[in-house]
Amino acid sequence: MSILKNIIIHIVDDDPGTLLILKSLLEGYKAKVITSSSSTEAIVEIKRTKPDVVILDLMMPGIDGLDMCRLLRQEPNLENLKIVIFSGKTYEHDQQRALELGADGYLTKPLDNEVFIKHLEDIIEDKIELTYWGVRGTLPVPGKESLKYGGNTCCVSIQFPKNNLFILDAGSGIKQLSNHLLSTQGPKLHAKILISHPHWDHINALPFFVPLYIPGNEFEILGASHGDITMRELISAQMDGVYFPITMKEFASRTYFRNLKEEEIEINNIKLKTMLLSHPGTCLGYRLEYKNRSICYITDNELFPENSRNYNLDYWEKLTAFLSSADILITDTTYTDEEYKQKSTWGHSSVSQVVKLAHQAGVKELHIIHHDPDQNDDDIDMKLKTAQKLLAEMNSKTKCIAPRERQSFKV
Ligand SMILES: [Zn+2]
Ligand SMILES: [Zn+2]
Repeated sequence: MSILKNIIIHIVDDDPGTLLILKSLLEGYKAKVITSSSSTEAIVEIKRTKPDVVILDLMMPGIDGLDMCRLLRQEPNLENLKIVIFSGKTYEHDQQRALELGADGYLTKPLDNEVFIKHLEDIIEDKIELTYWGVRGTLPVPGKESLKYGGNTCCVSIQFPKNNLFILDAGSGIKQLSNHLLSTQGPKLHAKILISHPHWDHINALPFFVPLYIPGNEFEILGASHGDITMRELISAQMDGVYFPITMKEFASRTYFRNLKEEEIEINNIKLKTMLLSHPGTCLGYRLEYKNRSICYITDNELFPENSRNYNLDYWEKLTAFLSSADILITDTTYTDEEYKQKSTWGHSSVSQVVKLAHQAGVKELHIIHHDPDQNDDDIDMKLKTAQKLLAEMNSKTKCIAPRERQSFKV
């Protein structure tokens, strides 16, 4: 059952054809639809009837969509109103401006029924959707031993409302995300790609992310520089013609790079915090916050046990504070405790340390990823069982999950 049922939607567009098509589409989902072809008349009507959602065209005679957005946001009685722009203008600038003026979402024409309804539902629900495209560490592991959790290396997408897509890491899983976006996304795609660090399992499928080669798309690739090697150089080095035949010059999308340090920035009302992790080289952990919800992505990361001479209480406390009360913690849980004994200082964590961290940080849901390539599905099942048992012994409120490829979570 769609959440659009019984929702009151007022559509304002000077094109009668669009009004007719949208009305019939939304009524098919049992929404109650009002239409106006004049924005001047619509604004009076919206203030009086207080719908749940308004869908606005941008370019209209009289009051245009941006102006209308601004005026509606000044109305004290309409604070719960969702405003969605539906426009033929696909420029990033217009989208940014609409969101700044208070729009909750920006959908572009031409109308693709399925994409439109999915995005509209997401905007009304105001949820963050997290999807896994690869959960393995170090090396892809295809074959019958990895059918349950999938064999691709790290890639996670986080779709925030207002059409804000974040992609975390570009392991081999990004190929699946690429295919998914090509089959579902509208004409222009904008996304931020956050790279934890440039070890192969986190970047080496970026050249297979087809939306990078499509004109009109726009990406920002963010991550830590390595000394004087910038993010741009870290990515271009693996596409220099020797290791990969296509160079970055072939990217037809507008692609920008940003070097991050430990810092806090805001992107379209989403707060992004970073922290340097315990791993060879420079590796960044991310915390994304949106309207009291938070997702942390911490990989790769080694948590030294308290009895290790490398144990660092300051780091432990800093990381616990960074993760504090997160809704979801996605983190490197490469080894069982037994395996870790042989692989201390390799830069990855064991189950018991991850569980302790998540519990102490008051994390609501712990997602264990970056599994060792020598582990099969049964081994991952066992790591999950161990983690759940340890949490139960601690009377912890933290829930533990081992996500699978293509599994989605809404927060
Ligand atoms: Zn890794
Ligand atoms: Zn690594």
